[in-house]
Amino acid sequence: MYTPDSLAHSDVAYQFHSYTNAQRLREEGPCIMARGDGIYVYDTDGRQYIEAMAGLWSVALGFSEPRLAQVAYEQMQNLPFYHTFSQKSNIPSIELAEKLIGLTQGRMAQAFFTNSGSEANDTIVKMVWYYNNALGRTQKKKIIARQRGYHGVTVASASLTGLPGNHRSFDLPLPRMLHVSCPHWYREGLPGETEAAFGDRLAAELEALILREGPDTVAAFIGEPVMGAGGVVVPPEHYWPKMQAVCRKYDVLVIADEVITGFGRTGHLFASELFGIEPDFMTLSKQLTSSYQPLAAVLMNERVASVLVRHSGELGSFGHGYTASGHPVAAAVALENIRIIEERQLVAHAAEVGAVLQQRLRALADHPLVGEVRGVGLIAAVELVADKATRQTFDPVGKAGALAARQAQSHGLILRGIQDTLAFCPPLIITAQQVHALADRFEQALEDVTRAL
Ligand code: PMP
Repeated sequence: MYTPDSLAHSDVAYQFHSYTNAQRLREEGPCIMARGDGIYVYDTDGRQYIEAMAGLWSVALGFSEPRLAQVAYEQMQNLPFYHTFSQKSNIPSIELAEKLIGLTQGRMAQAFFTNSGSEANDTIVKMVWYYNNALGRTQKKKIIARQRGYHGVTVASASLTGLPGNHRSFDLPLPRMLHVSCPHWYREGLPGETEAAFGDRLAAELEALILREGPDTVAAFIGEPVMGAGGVVVPPEHYWPKMQAVCRKYDVLVIADEVITGFGRTGHLFASELFGIEPDFMTLSKQLTSSYQPLAAVLMNERVASVLVRHSGELGSFGHGYTASGHPVAAAVALENIRIIEERQLVAHAAEVGAVLQQRLRALADHPLVGEVRGVGLIAAVELVADKATRQTFDPVGKAGALAARQAQSHGLILRGIQDTLAFCPPLIITAQQVHALADRFEQALEDVTRAL
């Protein structure tokens, strides 16, 4: 029999953790979750937390949806595994591909499945290269991403990610991966620059980079419609149409990484709709299955798909795929998850309760430690600053954010501290009343931080 202490001991001894200071883990031990119920999780000591990050921006339906467990069980009994290699297929993956293409209203043409968002973005990189080789444009291979963008951790997707921690000591980024500025007006805007002028300047920066590198060497531009892991950044209103116009001018493919924003997070089914993005590729994951099963999807439009189909015929095969691509259990869970999102109208619900979340957090804008409150729908952030007038950051950067996340946890609220920004991304099923409880707990944590600093 395990006890909370023996579990912690074994965890530290035997498991190497993701995104963790392994040294500090040894000293302080883990926080081990034992069960979930709706928007709450409970640790091994029985303490309850509001999971205001939906795990990793992902558990749309909360932590106890029995219908997802039931379809997984039934699919495991019926056909636990079948693949999509060498002209084989399985029923759930077919139904899911058709469903996803339908949800894009035909803007996308075909779906390819992977286990994770990282693998999906790596797949897109390879598809972009394959596409340009098929067209005889063998030099057109560079991919432009953004500073503070997040696209995953495998070798190519980590190269697209624009965070120093994902490159430092990993010998990344790979060559041919370039980065432009983050569209965060509060931090990156020049003194006196309007938000619209800032957006124009970033589009001009993209165009200048393409011209400097040579348009015949630049293949694609990738971005999250709303940045997540880089600190929840909502871009200026006309940023996306302007960036997209530059891409079209130089025949550069547009990749919308909707791993966080897909399936209602912003109060729209896809954030591409919100920002007028017409992508050539879309990346979906996380809320696709509420993370009950690992699954991601690459969607591509007909322009791309037709070229890949033809070139695979010329070469004899599309030489890429994962054992679990189109896994029937994951696909069955995704289909049921989407069915529930539709039945319970959770996209409209996210818009509605999201407004309550944005309102409660924006009410903190006058607090002396709060520099900026930002977000859309059910994704939001509060950025803490040492000096409100000058926007001066804390020394060291991250001191206040870490303290706030720790204090929130002691009040039964799980947030993500991203440097000195606190991120909020609760399950889509959260009620207005629960949003108020979440905000009350955050205010207590903020008062603790104010007293401590
Ligand atoms: N893209 C985005 C926008 C993400 O937020 C993430 C994960 N946070 C990924 C890609 C990578 O997904 P995964 O962790 O499943 O590899």
